Parts: sequence; C-alpha cells; structure tokens
Amino acid sequence: MTVQELGALLDLTRANKRPRAHHERTARGTVLDWLDDGLLRVTPATAEPAAPALVLSAGIHGNETAPMELLDRLLRAIAEDKLIPAGPLLIVLGNPEAIRHGTRYVEVDLNRQFNAAHQGPLAEHQRAKVIEQTVEAFYRDHEQHRRRYHIDMHTAIRASHLIKFALVPGTPEHPRDTEMLELLACTDIEAVVEQSRLGITFSNFTYGQLNAHAVTLELGKARPFGQNQDVDVSALEHTLTALIATGWLDTAAPRRPLRCFGVSFEILKQSEAFVLHVNDDQPNFVEYAKGACLAEDGDTRWITGSKRNWLIFPNPNVALGLRAGIVLHERPTFTSSDTSGRSYIT
Ligand SMILES: [Zn+2]
Repeated sequence: MTVQELGALLDLTRANKRPRAHHERTARGTVLDWLDDGLLRVTPATAEPAAPALVLSAGIHGNETAPMELLDRLLRAIAEDKLIPAGPLLIVLGNPEAIRHGTRYVEVDLNRQFNAAHQGPLAEHQRAKVIEQTVEAFYRDHEQHRRRYHIDMHTAIRASHLIKFALVPGTPEHPRDTEMLELLACTDIEAVVEQSRLGITFSNFTYGQLNAHAVTLELGKARPFGQNQDVDVSALEHTLTALIATGWLDTAAPRRPLRCFGVSFEILKQSEAFVLHVNDDQPNFVEYAKGACLAEDGDTRWITGSKRNWLIFPNPNVALGLRAGIVLHERPTFTSSDTSGRSYIT
C-alpha cells in the first residue's frame, strides 16, 4: 500500500479502477479517504479551525480536462507531502463516466441536476444525488470550520471575448459575495457574473443549501487531456495552493480589479419552435445594443432592454425548459479592499 495510489485519483477514475486501500496516510500525517468513484477527502494531521472546509470540483463536464489536470497536480503534491493542508478538502471529479468517454455528459447535463432537480433514473440524476450527499456530509463533519468554500472549475464549449470568467451565486437579498470576489481578485479572472436567482447548478446548490462561498469558473476552451498548454491556470493554481496550505489568500499576490456583470434575463427554451438568432460558433460575451431580438419561441421574443448587453452560453440545443443563454448588463467594477497586502479576515 502506498499513498501514491490515492494521490493518483484522476488516473484511477479514468481507468475505472477502485483503489486497493480506501484509506491512506502520508508520512506527515495527512489522511486521504477514497469515498466513491472520483470522490476523495483530504484531512490534515492538524487542522487549523480558521481554515475553510474547501470543496474543489472539476469534470462536472467530462470533456473539460484542464481543471482536472490542475486538481491532479494539487492532489499529488498533497499525497507527496509537498503541500500540507491547513484545513479539510473534498476533491470531486464530477462525472466519471463522461470523463472516461471524453464527453460533456452521458445522458443529461450533470450541471443542471442540482438543487433537487435530479429526480429521475438516468446516470447523471444518480450522480448529482451522490455528490450532494457527499458534500453535505463533508461540511457537516467539519462544522468547526465555519468558512465553507466551493470552487467548481470548468472550461467552455465556445470561445469567449473575455476568456476567463466566473459565475458567483447570489440572491436578491445578498447580491454580492465579497469574500469570493476577494479570492477571484487574486487570480487572472477577467469578469464576474453575479447571479441573483438560485438555479440548478452545482455551485448554486452549495451556496443556496449549504451556505458555502461558491463559484463556477470558466477557464478557457475545452480541450482533450494533455492538450491544455494554451489554458493558463497558473494564477488560480497559485491562489488555491496558498489557500490549501494556509487557509488564507497569499498576502503577496497582486489584486486585480474585476469587471462585474448582473443577469438581465435568461433565455428559456420552452418549445420545439424555439429559434436562437445566434451563429453556432459565436463566442461568449458578444455585445448587443438595446432592442436586439436574440430568440423567439412561438409568440415569445427575447429582446435586449439595457443600453449595453452581453450574451453568454448561447445554446439552442438544450432540453425543453432549460436556459438557452444568459443576457448580462455591466455593474460597478469590484476593487479589492485589501490594499494593505494582508489577507482579509472574515
Ligand atoms: Zn463545464
């Protein structure tokens, strides 16, 4: 039995192998527990209560490989005692079956099955339930860690005018998660979409149901394993490494202003008559003037209302009842209040 076995969670998952031992301990005392296909918990020898209980997920879409490779590097460093965690960590490789097929999903989009949307017999319905229960148990088991973080990492189907962007959940009562924005300001994320209504994505579940500071990250274009040289995740990797090692942001990391966007409306596909007036290969963050008709569905038309509008995730091929695009307006830029160079304190 070697600790390297669980440190290679991505290899195990891609090969559809169960580990020989489900529980391993490194020389420095970090404990790795294999929980299920693609699910692994890391428990420090000595946990710092101020450090967050941290959930890092990738592969919710099976063909988005750069974030999985990033998680693989972090986990191997932990297994080799090169990275000693300050707090508990849950690694989630979201959709193992789709990862093994190299496809976005097997039967339905896993990232539309959360918040009790997973009522059904399909593989992704079952998987969403397992993930929800595992994350809930993880936070509950580590209740002494009052800060809860969840970072769900993706790459996008299409190109984007703003290449790296984040979607941060919120509600009308709590429209801005400044603690998450402080973290994002330490990365090279260019834009943040601040959501104000809870949806059915993984980060919306951890935010809405489990009170986590949550985010969905889009880190560039989806490519196969080993072909991610053009997807630069180094700033994010640096920030996550510091967060795992100390429980805080790197005091020396430069803070960048974040362009912020609010959701004006979501385009919903309601019937088979739905038509999206967007080219198949249109990048994310194309700008529209007021009065542009973006989609029609029978008598319903989706028309931009703000002076300046941006469209992300246009996709006419979604299932009925799901969103076929999100229309945005710009909000005031977020500038980190941490001008002292010190970590923020919650
Ligand atoms: Zn994705």
